[in-house]
Amino acid sequence: VSSTLRLALRQFLAENLPSEWSDTRSVASDYDSLALVRREWGQRLFAGGWAAPVLSRAVGGLGLVGDDLVAYFEEMAASGAPEVLNSNAIGILAPVLAAYGSAEQRGRVIPAMLAHDVLWCQGFSEPDAGSDLADLRTRAVSAVGGWRVRGQKVWTSNALHADYCYLLARTDPAASAHVGLSLMMLDMRQPGVEVRPLRNMAGTDEFCEVFLDDALVRSEDLIGEPGDGWRLASFALEQERASMLGQRALRMSRELADAYVLLGAERAARVERELGRVHAAVRASEAAARRTLTLIALGRSPGVLAQVTKLHWSLTHQRLLDVVADGVGPEFFADGRSRGWAHAMLFSRGETIYGGTSEIQRNLIARSLGLPRSRR
Ligand SMILES: Cc1cc2nc3c(=O)[nH]c(=O)nc-3n(C[C@H](O)[C@H](O)[C@H](O)COP(=O)(O)OP(=O)(O)OC[C@H]3O[C@@H](n4cnc5c(N)ncnc54)[C@H](O)[C@@H]3O)c2cc1C
Repeated sequence: VSSTLRLALRQFLAENLPSEWSDTRSVASDYDSLALVRREWGQRLFAGGWAAPVLSRAVGGLGLVGDDLVAYFEEMAASGAPEVLNSNAIGILAPVLAAYGSAEQRGRVIPAMLAHDVLWCQGFSEPDAGSDLADLRTRAVSAVGGWRVRGQKVWTSNALHADYCYLLARTDPAASAHVGLSLMMLDMRQPGVEVRPLRNMAGTDEFCEVFLDDALVRSEDLIGEPGDGWRLASFALEQERASMLGQRALRMSRELADAYVLLGAERAARVERELGRVHAAVRASEAAARRTLTLIALGRSPGVLAQVTKLHWSLTHQRLLDVVADGVGPEFFADGRSRGWAHAMLFSRGETIYGGTSEIQRNLIARSLGLPRSRR
């Protein structure tokens, strides 16, 4: 079956993916143009019925399992297609809604998300709550029509473009840290929501601070029950590590091939030894990602392999981009032809932080190996 799927997907890609979008590093290195490309790509995938491979058909996905699901990810990665703008919501929020949302929420929220009619951001991190989300302080108080939310979120990717935010807030301050949290969907286009961009070192406003001052979450936008937040967020973050970041690992082969083209034979020779090492690491990352995605495709939990994949992919991707920078030499940041690469190289610094920092992944891997806890 997977070869039929591969052929159909290749045909769709040949007809719908403009060649200049398959290497976004050379097309649109500024964030706003890239966001437009990623939104339109999301719209095209939805129109063609290819938007959500993992989600079941009942909620508008392709419901792919087994070899088909892995084939989908491999073909997408090989094509060099950009990630869609709502990739975070499709990879994380949609599975949460499919598993725990109401029928009304599934019908209202998921199709508009897949179609890119409504753009999403994720409001989990706060100034004093990142790795340990149980420390978060944003409060949601029961009010007429829903909940009034007050607090601050930070590092919120795509907040400048987003229409909605799925966030964690504390609904029961008297309950213990993990118990009093709830997961809710907030309309970003209302009074009481202020978005302040945080310029990153790559020079883009990709992530932001979000200030909430009695902003309203309507009753129908609470996911699950009050107090379910920790359980649902843990499920959500497992989806992120397992499926979304696994797909990013599969993209590195294509990126390496593009890097050889950018470098050319002479410059590649300057960094031959390190390129060889990166090549081997990319293969190892892909093997881990393929195994993770295969387990998901079989309906099994990848367990600690999800942490191994995340850690190995993020470190290898940084090495890959570093070696490209070394190969290009001093003009890497100045030469227009490598501008998109320079942005990717700077942005990759965040990959060992988001989706769970390397230290947290290592702690989890150590725990699964039965190693003693470190003293803090
Ligand atoms: C590019 C990018 C995009 C992001 N997008 C979003 C987004 O859209 N929405 C969102 O909610 N968040 C987002 N984040 C935030 C991200 O989830 C957090 O940065 C991450 O969870 C780490 O939290 P923190 O920054 O508060 O660091 P902290 O948790 O304060 O950690 C600081 C340092 O201490 C280490 N540390 C912490 N706890 C332990 C421990 N128990 N053992 C050992 N070491 C430890 C960490 O590894 C790290 O090195 C994004 C981050 C980046 C970089």
